[in-house]
Amino acid sequence: AAKGSGRGRYRFFAGDLLRAAEERKTLEEDLHDALARGELALHYQPIVMAQDNRVIGVEALLRWTHPRCGAISPARFIPIAEESNLIRAIGEWVLFRACADAAAWPMPLRVAVNVSPVQFADEHFPVLVATALARSGLDPARLELEITEGVFMQENGATDARFKALKGLGVRLSLDDFGTGYSSLGYLRTAPFDKIKIDQSFVRGATQTGSRNRAIIAAIVALAQALDMETTAEGVESFDQFDLMKALNVSHVQGYIYSVPLDNAAFMQALGGEPWVIQPSGPSRQRHQ
Ligand code: C2E
Ligand code: MG
Ligand code: MG
Ligand code: MG
Repeated sequence: AAKGSGRGRYRFFAGDLLRAAEERKTLEEDLHDALARGELALHYQPIVMAQDNRVIGVEALLRWTHPRCGAISPARFIPIAEESNLIRAIGEWVLFRACADAAAWPMPLRVAVNVSPVQFADEHFPVLVATALARSGLDPARLELEITEGVFMQENGATDARFKALKGLGVRLSLDDFGTGYSSLGYLRTAPFDKIKIDQSFVRGATQTGSRNRAIIAAIVALAQALDMETTAEGVESFDQFDLMKALNVSHVQGYIYSVPLDNAAFMQALGGEPWVIQPSGPSRQRHQ
């Protein structure tokens, strides 16, 4: 791109890169204090049985309100946390907070917590999970750990042992963002997942005629059913997508069609009383994060 665009153009790019690096460094420093300053919060997004609209659980999603910049997306700050090791302290806070919140809910919903491959790689991670369960008193069967294909990148003997230790605690494991990483079906042979989460990149566009996404989703559902795993479709926004997911026998749906992620109080209010049903609704509810 620099070719033929002259020296000034090159300097412009270099300046951009420098600014980006500085900005990142500043974010890293700010993130370091974010926990202590109470700038991090967990929001909860319902995960719903597609057939009868029953809420079976939620996914905990981290939110950072920066004092000057406002809301910063986890897609932006989680990678920074991972590269700077801050993910350990942040991940621990998320785990403890999610377990404590869930234990205080009047209904026994599952809570799904995202686990970074960096956390998973720590041999003490299962002990941390056990501690969070013990301190909160949360039934282990209500805790679901969302793990991405990234954990299989550094394949060593420890991965199997980690899975065993976690399953030994009685928690559930789900495979997040399935099909978007460096997928190998090999790990489905041994890794004890209870659920596959179908990434929103497959859901998006699946409703178009002749879409290959539709065939891919059908194949993932067939695979999951054969292996006795549940499926959750992520990022379902429209009724068209919702109807298609039901037709394809996806067991759970998560997305703006039901609700955006809400803070703990708003979530409790949205849920109301037994039987904890939530109705799908159109675009009006979208994008009010
Ligand atoms: P993810 O685990 O795949 O989470 C699902 C993402 O989809 C969330 O983005 C959620 O807000 C968004 N989403 C839900 N429904 C819809 C929808 O209908 N349409 C669209 N367009 N998006 C929808 P979010 O909250 O920005 O999080 C992004 C990613 O950051 C997460 O992807 C996860 O990988 C990571 N993340 C979030 N919280 C944590 C955390 O506590 N720990 C770790 N390690 N990672 C986290
Ligand atoms: Mg997730
Ligand atoms: Mg996901
Ligand atoms: Mg995703």
